[in-house]
Amino acid sequence: MANQTVDIVSDSLKALVDDKDFLPELTGEGRNKAFSSLLSILSTPDHVNKSYLRIALEDGQVVRIPSFRVQHNNVLGPYKGGIRFHETVNEDEVVNLASLMTLKNALHEVPFGGGKGGVVINPRDYNEKDLYVICKKYVQYFSDILGPDKDIPAPDVGTGEREMDWMMAEYKSIRPGESYLGSFTGKSVVNGGSLGRREATGKGVYFTFRYLLHDFVCDKENWLAERDNIFAKTALSLKEKPLKLAIQGFGNVGSVAALSAYQCNHLNNKVVAVSDRNVTLYNSDGLDIPSLVKFVSLNKGDLPISDEQLNQAEIKATILNREEILMLDVDVLFLAALENQIHQENMMSIKAEIIVEGANAPVTTEADDYLSEKGIIIIPDILANAGGVIVSYLEWLQGRETQFYSEEEVFEKLYDKMKETFNSVLPQFFGDPFPLRQNCYIHAVMKLSIILYRQGKLY
Ligand code: NAD
Repeated sequence: MANQTVDIVSDSLKALVDDKDFLPELTGEGRNKAFSSLLSILSTPDHVNKSYLRIALEDGQVVRIPSFRVQHNNVLGPYKGGIRFHETVNEDEVVNLASLMTLKNALHEVPFGGGKGGVVINPRDYNEKDLYVICKKYVQYFSDILGPDKDIPAPDVGTGEREMDWMMAEYKSIRPGESYLGSFTGKSVVNGGSLGRREATGKGVYFTFRYLLHDFVCDKENWLAERDNIFAKTALSLKEKPLKLAIQGFGNVGSVAALSAYQCNHLNNKVVAVSDRNVTLYNSDGLDIPSLVKFVSLNKGDLPISDEQLNQAEIKATILNREEILMLDVDVLFLAALENQIHQENMMSIKAEIIVEGANAPVTTEADDYLSEKGIIIIPDILANAGGVIVSYLEWLQGRETQFYSEEEVFEKLYDKMKETFNSVLPQFFGDPFPLRQNCYIHAVMKLSIILYRQGKLY
């Protein structure tokens, strides 16, 4: 596991070992041994599966592509986590993302464990036929360890419904006669996917922010005002202000979060900037998000990169460099691209008061410590971007029962589940000096510790 997650798990365990009300049955030397078992279980994956997919490309080349499936922990249920297609995928990253899934599922009480997959390619370098073969080969190589009750992949960066449909079809043909709808989630609706799954992560990301700043703060205003807590002060200072939002990444997560913000009636907010792998677009009066969503759907996922393209689409915006989005004078910054975006070199230039992590691990440990000390609220990945796995769970359930929910039912269930989690972590967050990430980890680690203890795994 990469250091950031290990450090936070270890800090969470240190806080818990001293709390005599937590697992009071464990005392003396037995308690120390049990907590050291916990650290070793949670900081190492159960299995790291690696293969080199041998692919005959359409242009005649035969290549071997490194690929991974990491299974971190399944104490809560089958391993679960996306498959990423990206040229920077590496073993440490996949292990870290798999461990984050274990903790995320524990925090939100989703009955899955943690897994993650990765294929070291830039999918833009391959045509559709080659990508189809890569997806099929991935399932062939890992078919023994995948399955609806073993390990259930989903989309991540560089993959989507199309890839999940191909992979599920391959799984079905490798295992004829066995149940297959629950083998992959994030499939298209016609192939047994759930309504609302595509939008689930982005909607959940925006909902997390809206719930904290609107619902929770309004409801607990007096209680918050009495706290001597820097994060409570930040939240109260933003409560009734018109808010300027910037959103880094305009893919599946970022574009849906942007649209949710644009359509939100609960908060007086406007999206003044969005960015992608090429550019930042800025408009102090607020960007026309529906037109940008339409533009990217017609242009291979990319935002307009020239004034000509902006004029043609009738979108008013100034084009800035890709990195400039992070330093803009905004109140809220959503990070929905890749990891390690805010780090030691740029953390001092951040002006936002709230940062919402739609992507996994977009803020490094140093930057997290620095910004948290200044009272900036960071809504961490583990809390904010769980919408995808929550609706994946609903998709898996629907596949098992072959009974399908309406889109409205899906979002109602999603928000109910997220609210339960917020209500268990937010009072503690505003009541004590730990940043929100630490609070969430403590909750997740508590849940996993109790279950591991009751199953007799701590010796
Ligand atoms: P995506 O591939 O659909 O979109 C990624 C976006 O980020 C694109 O707009 C791309 O142009 C942009 N981007 C890439 N590099 C960039 C850079 N250096 N600067 C600015 N923008 C850049 O991916 P996605 O599904 O939206 O996932 C985004 C993040 O959210 C990832 O970290 C992923 O792990 C995380 N996440 C996704 C889901 C899900 O359900 N899709 C669930 C949980 C977490």
